[in-house]
This record gives sequence, structure tokens and C-alpha cells, in this order.
Amino acid sequence: MVITPFKCIVCSKWKGEHHLGETLHFVDDSSTDLDICDECVEEAEESRKFEGAYARALYELDMDGMEEDYMSSEWGDYVALFGNWLLYCDSQGFVTAEEFRSVEAAVEHFTIIHDEGMGYHEEDATIYADNWGNYQVSFDGKHIANVRREDYENPLRRAKAIISVEMRKSGFFPNVWLTDDRTARRIEVW
Ligand SMILES: [Zn+2]
Repeated sequence: MVITPFKCIVCSKWKGEHHLGETLHFVDDSSTDLDICDECVEEAEESRKFEGAYARALYELDMDGMEEDYMSSEWGDYVALFGNWLLYCDSQGFVTAEEFRSVEAAVEHFTIIHDEGMGYHEEDATIYADNWGNYQVSFDGKHIANVRREDYENPLRRAKAIISVEMRKSGFFPNVWLTDDRTARRIEVW
């Protein structure tokens, strides 16, 4: 009988194939299988921190800095991209993983989460809407204009124009966010 050994991605131990717990199929430039031993699978399933073995395996890759891209919100959530997988850590520290049918699909989902506010950073360009339809415009962390509703027919368009001019003047083209007290969403200014 020939035993094919594998190296567990979580505990880094070499084990015989009868100790193979789960295999995470991972697509990047090529196609890689990440093996997780039965002990580590069991440990992950019993833990309150990980949704399961796949989340545990990706978390290990993340600790090693193997993510292709990542983002974190000001509220403590974290998302990392690994080939066709996304890893999520919420602000409570709970870790989950999601598999996509392709790398492109994972990237697309990552971008959607980013643009829906996760990628928001105060030092980008921000148009803050107050409850009365006025807009506070900031750029590169500095407040640059207060666009009052009564002064313009379309105050939001005016706020966008201010940022667009500021970008061309400074040669700095940060993401632009439309925010209020609860949400942030990435927008285009032209
Ligand atoms: Zn292991």
C-alpha cells in the first residue's frame, strides 16, 4: 500500500492521506488544492471563531499575507480576496469564507462590497449629505466647500463639480464617496 502524504495548510504538519479532512479547491493563475487534516477540520468546526474548515484555511493564508487584495472598514470588518474565494472577518472576529465560480466573479463581488461603502476612507473625497439637502465637500481629508441647497438648483451636481476641479488641480484622484450619518457609497464625479 502506498501512502501519499499531504501537508496540512493549517497546522503545517505532514500527514498520511487517511488523515485528510477537507480539500479547498483554489483557483488563481493555476489551480491549487489546499489540504486540511482531520484534526484541524474538527477543531475549526467546534470553534466559535470559524464558520468551518475553509474559513480556517483561508484565515491561515491571510496570516501569511497571501491575500491578493484586502479592505477593512472603519467599523472593524475585513474582507480579503484569494483567487476565487473571499474571506470575511466581522467586527466580532467571526470568520467566514465564500467560494465563487471564477476569479472574475470573486473580484466582481469584492468590488461591489468596496463600492457599497466598505472601501470608504475619510481621507478620500467625500460628499456628506445632511438631512436638509446640503452637502459638505471634503478632499484629501480637508473640508473644502459647503454647498447649500438654497444656492443651487442641483446642489449634488455642484458638489461633484467641486471635487472634479480639485482633482484636476491637485493631480490626485481618490475614490469619491457619497455619505450620510449611516452609509457610504462610491460615486463617479464625471
Ligand atoms: Zn492540520
